[in-house]
Amino acid sequence: MPFRQVTGHRPLLELLARAVSRRSLPSTLIFAGPEGIGKRLTATALAQALNCESPVSFGAYDGKIGGQPSSHDSEVGGQPTSLGNDACGVCGPCTRIGRGVHADVLVLEPGDSGSIKIDQVRDAIDRAAYRPFEGRRRVVIVDVADALVGEAQNALLKTLEEPPPSSVFVLVTSRPDLLLPTVRSRGHRLRFGALSESDVAAVLTQDHGFSVADARAAAATSDGSVGRALEENTEEAIEARDTAARVLHTVAGTTNPQRRLEGGRALAGSGDREDVWRRLLALSSLLRDMSVLASHADEHLLANADLAPQLKSLLRAFDAGRAVRAFSAVDRALAAIDRNASPKIVADWLALQL
Ligand SMILES: [Zn+2]
Repeated sequence: MPFRQVTGHRPLLELLARAVSRRSLPSTLIFAGPEGIGKRLTATALAQALNCESPVSFGAYDGKIGGQPSSHDSEVGGQPTSLGNDACGVCGPCTRIGRGVHADVLVLEPGDSGSIKIDQVRDAIDRAAYRPFEGRRRVVIVDVADALVGEAQNALLKTLEEPPPSSVFVLVTSRPDLLLPTVRSRGHRLRFGALSESDVAAVLTQDHGFSVADARAAAATSDGSVGRALEENTEEAIEARDTAARVLHTVAGTTNPQRRLEGGRALAGSGDREDVWRRLLALSSLLRDMSVLASHADEHLLANADLAPQLKSLLRAFDAGRAVRAFSAVDRALAAIDRNASPKIVADWLALQL
């Protein structure tokens, strides 16, 4: 999948595309950021852009040309003059890299043991010492790089200190702090952020066959991670969003504490921590949309556009100020659950705050 088909992360993608076209890519990159947001996908896109037989200009196909030049603090590529190079996605090398069978693109990932063993690293290092076999640049992608056992990191470090010409190492990790400081300092770190909910929903419909309604429900409880949305049971996500919407209706219409606590009981359900967490994320997503609606912003910005009529009917009770206050109350509730507070107590507290 070329850069232009990767969802989100636009400034980072532009940075990489420019570095490819200027041949200024550092030999070691660390792609850091939450799970399931497209870091490894971007590493594969980078390998394709480096080895494509007929590169195209980044952004040439999707009409999104002209994004602001990146203000990212990275030095990859320097000042932008063009959008940089992207892979065609269809030539021999692009296809083989996409299928994971290109001779010069190696992927190291944890085996059944959950860790990346030193033998795997040695094998990759041996191969990286030779000139690329079929392409221009050898790319070694270490996925879940924090799973490298200590001695494997040390073995890798020696190579990163004196990188073989034509080789690029990409360490992909959601926990960069688990890498040895010496390894970290060798790599140029790119920080990937969580995706927006609409980006998550778009990936789910385009690449994973979700219906629009299912995708939006799953995105609302995904914390900006496609990986998390895919792990989620869609039915649970839909239940969470339905419950959250019902609770908002319950609390919107009444100041009576007893009635409000009914909302709390619905949020708490059986008191299962994961369930409550999902409902709170869904609630947070709905409240964010209410602020959007209250400020008369573009409805395209709504993460739950399919529920727009319902949310609008709540606006009489929830003006922008109340939506924002409720949103921060949900945030505090999430933090409390995270600190292991009782889900039922948190749900009751929240129902009185909304
Ligand atoms: Zn190509």
